[in-house]
Parts: sequence; structure tokens; C-alpha cells
Amino acid sequence: AESRAPRRIRALDPDVVNRIAAGEIIVAPVHALKELMENAVDAGSTSVEVLVKEGGLKLLQITDNGCGIRKEDLAILCERHTTSKITSFEDLTSISTYGFRGEALASISHIAHLSVTTKTADSDVAWRAHFLDGKLVPAKPGQSPAPKATAGRNGTQICVEDLFFNVPTRRRAFRYPSDEYNKIIDMVGRYAVHCEGVAFSCKKHGDPGTGLSIQASAKTVDRIRQIHGANVTNELLEFSTSEDRWGFQADGFATNANYHVKKTTLLLFINHRCVESTHIKKAIEQVYAAVLPKNGRPFVYLNLNIDPARVDVNVHPTKREVHFLNEDEIIQSICEHIRSKLAEVDTSRTFLTQM
Ligand code: ADP
Ligand code: MG
Repeated sequence: AESRAPRRIRALDPDVVNRIAAGEIIVAPVHALKELMENAVDAGSTSVEVLVKEGGLKLLQITDNGCGIRKEDLAILCERHTTSKITSFEDLTSISTYGFRGEALASISHIAHLSVTTKTADSDVAWRAHFLDGKLVPAKPGQSPAPKATAGRNGTQICVEDLFFNVPTRRRAFRYPSDEYNKIIDMVGRYAVHCEGVAFSCKKHGDPGTGLSIQASAKTVDRIRQIHGANVTNELLEFSTSEDRWGFQADGFATNANYHVKKTTLLLFINHRCVESTHIKKAIEQVYAAVLPKNGRPFVYLNLNIDPARVDVNVHPTKREVHFLNEDEIIQSICEHIRSKLAEVDTSRTFLTQM
């Protein structure tokens, strides 16, 4: 009889709701890292340094030399939907910076201990603040939650400690911190290839060397060489194409028919966000199926810029898959261009051997 009686419906505690929502956006440390790295690049940084402890579960620290955050803004920094990047719905269609929802820092503060040290160029001091559940909290119990003045350089350092400390089931799911570190270094490498003019480094705490280190002055090809090796770089074709009627421009580097490996490497950026697209990946693999030995796969870095009005930004906040108008036509057009580039190399080689 007892089981038949309807249970009372109760509202969940807002912090619990927020924690659940945050855990859906940030499934692994790399997702937090990606948001923080995008913020650093948005802030106009020319240097982004990443330090990782225990695959990012113990510590994720991102230090940039960008514009910094004003002291007055710190109190609302980690509230949901606080952003300096858009002010109206209309802005959503012309957005050119990476983030736009003002949700990343809020989400992280619900599932980790977040601290921020930041200095703008016009401030004499840096300010340090700690956050939990969207709000400023004291560094130690009993202290004031207000930001504290401290010494520091221009820019921002964000520390994310004990990720998922209050989501024990999620925390336990990470058996191998080294897997998480590999995902992080892969993501830093992607942004390092894409962001010419910005220095990147990624270090595992306690390791004497750096896992990845790219100087600000390194050109795109040098970045690819340092991260993916000379075998890739020696066989790269540069491409660039655009079509006004579909509102897109694309460029990048792709390996020629001399290079093949077992798995495709696709560094895909759409409007300067690293995203995934199974459509694009399949289409590119098809192009190469015609020129590579069976099961051979290419390396491709594709920088695709689409008129923001044609991109569907109203997708799930994970923002990992992006959709846009005339997807098929745009993909076909890019693939056709890469195919013609591969053919060009082929004919010049035939020509050379005939001489
Ligand atoms: P969004 O990037 O979508 O605006 P976030 O939660 O990622 O939302 O960041 C909120 C705001 O905090 C940003 O709009 C920006 O003003 C500020 N901010 C975050 N990280 C940095 C940083 N590294 N440097 C300067 N400002 C930052
Ligand atoms: Mg952001």
C-alpha cells in the first residue's frame, strides 16, 4: 500500500541542480581546460601556460598575460550568464569571440574549488578571489570573502582544484590520470597550432621538462612540426578556399599522398573554436580513400570560418558539435578543393618522373 501512495514532489536545492548541470557540461578535466584556454585567448593573451596535477583532477592552472579582470567585476564573475562578450540576443549572431554564454566559470565553481588572481594594466595591484557555487568565498573559514590585494603581473591566473570533489561518482570514474593528461595536452596542442602569435606551454606538475612548449613567434607550420613531427610537416599542402554564396572561408594544411597513418588527425576549428564534426571527418577520409593505400589516413588542420549568422549557436552548451547552414555544400566545396590540391601534386610528380 505504501508504494502506491504518491511521493511528495519537492524542488531540488539550486546548488544541486547547478552541480548536475555543470557535470553535464564538464565531463572530464579537458572540458574545463578548453573553456579556460578559450577565455585566455579571448582576453588577447600572447602567452598561455598550463600546469596540471593528477590529470587535472587535483589541479588545473592556466596563466595568461591578457587584459585581466577588473576588481569590480570579480564579485559576479562566477554567476551564471555573466559575460563581457554579448549584451543582447542580437549579439549572438555576430559573435566572434570563443565563449558567449557566460557559463564556463559558473559551472566550474559548482564542481571544484576555483581561485582567480588577476591584474589589469591600469591597476597597481593584482586581486585574488576564491569561488564556490558561483559566489565569492573566503580563502579560509572565518576570513572575509572579499578579493584581496596581492602582487602579480598583468593578466589572469585561474586555479581549478579538486575537480568533481562534490560529485564522488564522477570523481571515481577517473581511474587513469595519465589518460586525462593526454587529452589535456592534445587540446593545448590543438589551440597551439591554431593560435599563431600566442605562446603555449603545458606542464605536468613535478615533471622537470615541459610536455609542450611553443613560442609566440612560431609560424603555423613550425607549430605543426613541433607538435606532430617532421614526418607530417614534410608532406604538407597548404590550402585556402572560399565561396561567398555559402558564406564561408577555409584554409589550413593537409598531408599529401606520400603520408599516411592508421588514424586520421583532424584539427578542426570553426569560427576559432575547436569542435568536432563527424560529417567533415568522414568527407575528408573519403577524399583520401582515393589516393592513399587501404586503411591509410591523413593529417588535416582545417580553419573554417562561417558567417556567424549562419551558425547555429543555440546548441547544447557543450558546444562540441557545431551545425551551420548549407553544411553539405560547404563540406563538399572544401573537399573538392583539397582533392584538386592532391591531384596537382600528383600530376607534377608524374611530370617530374617523365622528364
Ligand atoms: P564567457 O567566456 O562565455 O563570457 P566565462 O564564464 O567563460 O563566460 O567567463 C565569464 C567572463 O569572465 C568573460 O566574459 C570575461 O569577461 C571574464 N574572463 C574569464 N576568463 C578571463 C581571462 N582569462 N581574462 C580576462 N577575462 C576573463
Ligand atoms: Mg568562456
